[in-house]
Amino acid sequence: MLVASASIWAQRPASYLSPWRKGYMDIHHIATGQGDCTFIVCPDGTTLLIDAGDNGLPEGSKHWFRRVPDDTEPTGEWLCRYIRHFSPDSAKIDYALLTHFHADHMGSIKGAVPGDHGYLRSGLTYVGDEIPFGTLVDRGWPSYNFPSRENIRRESPLFDEYCKFINYQRTLGMEMQKFRVGVNDQFVLKHHPLRYRRSFEVRNLVGNARVWTGKGEETALMYQGDSTLFDENQPSCGVRIRYGRFTYYNCGDLSGMNFWRYKCQERDFETPVSKVCGRITVMKCDHHAATDVVNENLMRAARPEAFIVLGGHREHPYKPTMERMTDRSIYPDDRDFYITTDCSKEDLGPELWSYFKPSGHIVVRVSSGGKKYRIYSLDVYSGDYRIIYSSPEKTVGQ
Ligand SMILES: [Zn+2]
Repeated sequence: MLVASASIWAQRPASYLSPWRKGYMDIHHIATGQGDCTFIVCPDGTTLLIDAGDNGLPEGSKHWFRRVPDDTEPTGEWLCRYIRHFSPDSAKIDYALLTHFHADHMGSIKGAVPGDHGYLRSGLTYVGDEIPFGTLVDRGWPSYNFPSRENIRRESPLFDEYCKFINYQRTLGMEMQKFRVGVNDQFVLKHHPLRYRRSFEVRNLVGNARVWTGKGEETALMYQGDSTLFDENQPSCGVRIRYGRFTYYNCGDLSGMNFWRYKCQERDFETPVSKVCGRITVMKCDHHAATDVVNENLMRAARPEAFIVLGGHREHPYKPTMERMTDRSIYPDDRDFYITTDCSKEDLGPELWSYFKPSGHIVVRVSSGGKKYRIYSLDVYSGDYRIIYSSPEKTVGQ
């Protein structure tokens, strides 16, 4: 009987995500094992890439994960193939947002390959070389002086190559902008802004250790001490994307609490964010749900219906972080868990791991003007992105 049902399963035709169409917002969390990459197709077809990391570890290591689907191509190439497959306009990406300058968000020297324009490219710069960005937004342009240029260069060995990429791409027409905390007009719809003017918004919540206050475009500083003690995670940029009643949260590697491994002991930036972010439908976990994030204040305020972990390390998520995220005494609502790789399966153990749906590329498809959504896991290894898991259709807030 078991054999029979297994063979029936094997014979079932593969199913695929239907093409994006107007009115859908598709949020793709692309699995590479090497860092964050989120590709968003907005309801009018405007595209936004948030990060495109490449740790440059094809074989992985004791703690870090390997490159997926395999190491026959650079991570940037796998990302480009994915984006070309799912984008309504594979000739360009309207906006790219780099949340901060770490390798697993921007690219690494280790993973870098030469291009044709006099710089090494990896992750974000690889993607931007192949599929041009209309506008690239980062937290430092043009001075890169927070907390200092030396800090950024120390934490980001690829930084000088990144600057060469910017200089070259600007000659081809790429616009460069600094992330403006507090505003809701930096990432705007390009095709039909009027049609969605009441239902769609990208709010710049946080960045460079400043947070939106919830009043107009006003911002407040989140620290008093010495910013040169910061690591690169702390000043991460973050956005809240609203479409109708649906809300998505992505704040890069923003920190949420002190942890002994870190030099700076002024790290709770999630609590000020929790005061202004409101309810969140789907949360991209800060800092891969590692040691120092998804604190109780953020959970209580946001009460996510789904958490997505972009995993590339044994501690993505960290066990106590996962225990907290699943804790119904913090908020009682149902919640689902998704992860891009099985990097933490062993450390979490079977009970905590069982909260996750099958790992893969995680796609959130929002429809009906932002009232409904469904979350999919797509196969990383088959090459055709077949669906390996589909949630039931959910109504936001129910
Ligand atoms: Zn990261």
